[in-house]
Amino acid sequence: MKKVLAMVLALTLALSIVGMAAAESLLVGVCMPTKSSARWIDDGNNMKAQLEAKGYEVDLQYGEDIIENQVAQIENMITKGVKVLVIASIDGESLTAVLEKAKDAEIPVIAYDRLIRNTDAVSYYATFDNFLVGVQQATTIVDALDLPNVEGPFNIELFAGSPDDNNAYFFFNGSMSVLQPYIDEGKLVVKSGQTAFDQVATLRWDGATAQARMDNIITANYTDARVDAILSPYDGISIGVLAAVKNVGYGSADQAMPIISGQDAELPSVKSILAGEQYSTIFKDTRTLAAKAVEMVDAVLTGSEPSINDTTTYENGVKVVPSFLCEPVPIDATNAVQVLVTDSAYYTMEQLEQ
Ligand code: BGC
Repeated sequence: MKKVLAMVLALTLALSIVGMAAAESLLVGVCMPTKSSARWIDDGNNMKAQLEAKGYEVDLQYGEDIIENQVAQIENMITKGVKVLVIASIDGESLTAVLEKAKDAEIPVIAYDRLIRNTDAVSYYATFDNFLVGVQQATTIVDALDLPNVEGPFNIELFAGSPDDNNAYFFFNGSMSVLQPYIDEGKLVVKSGQTAFDQVATLRWDGATAQARMDNIITANYTDARVDAILSPYDGISIGVLAAVKNVGYGSADQAMPIISGQDAELPSVKSILAGEQYSTIFKDTRTLAAKAVEMVDAVLTGSEPSINDTTTYENGVKVVPSFLCEPVPIDATNAVQVLVTDSAYYTMEQLEQ
């Protein structure tokens, strides 16, 4: 009995050493969209650290929001012989051809945070509950204006994300599910009249583009009216919008800031919230998302099943991609320190105070 046990133990040890050695030589390609936003830098760093801790080698690349860069990076990774691709796309509709090459080379693909559309080459999708993000963004505005209990009306302007990012539609639809009833009853008024997604979208989530649009909206509609709230889907857009409203005197003693939402809990925006400028953001813990994506990498390499909590929502034009949705958390000045420093250690107090 003892001998059998010893043999089993020795065999297990030998196998796990072989397993580790094998894992060490496995290269994982991680493609991130841009370094212009801190969240993606965190995502890339977290992925790299967590994969390396498991013994993988990592090729981490950023596309700088240029689609051709990302396609070239993926081609390069396929040539280098990566065993898995983890991709946060720049344009979710532009990877069909290159992912056909990945499929031919039998390289599984995991969509990271952004759904990759029009391909059956994607095995899994790790993301947050994107509709809920939109609901939460709008709810911070509804709560700040105390809409259920006051008569209004209040003026609001709407911004959405990039039309080539599937998430942008989920955020906007989630937000409108909350705001539309108030618009319909006249408690919220969109003076610009721009309420359709394609009128309010912001290509590549660009803050300067959003600022220019807000400048125009102010000039055309708010020379003698006040904008009370602005739905912004992302902190970088909020920064652009904030610059536009500050330029015409909001945020001074006689002209309070509009209520402005955001997303990603990026450091400058968290500081802005604590300083009473931006009103809210949504915290999406990139460490949790990276851990999910790493679990999916392990699964596709070992032929096991990762945990999935959504098998219906993310239809990519070809198939429903099995997904894991992490939970987003709304942040405003009342809970920022508690959630981001005390509870999660996502930031240190020093970072918020610098
Ligand atoms: C992400 C958001 C981010 C946005 C802009 C979206 O795909 O889900 O977290 O704010 O891209 O980078």
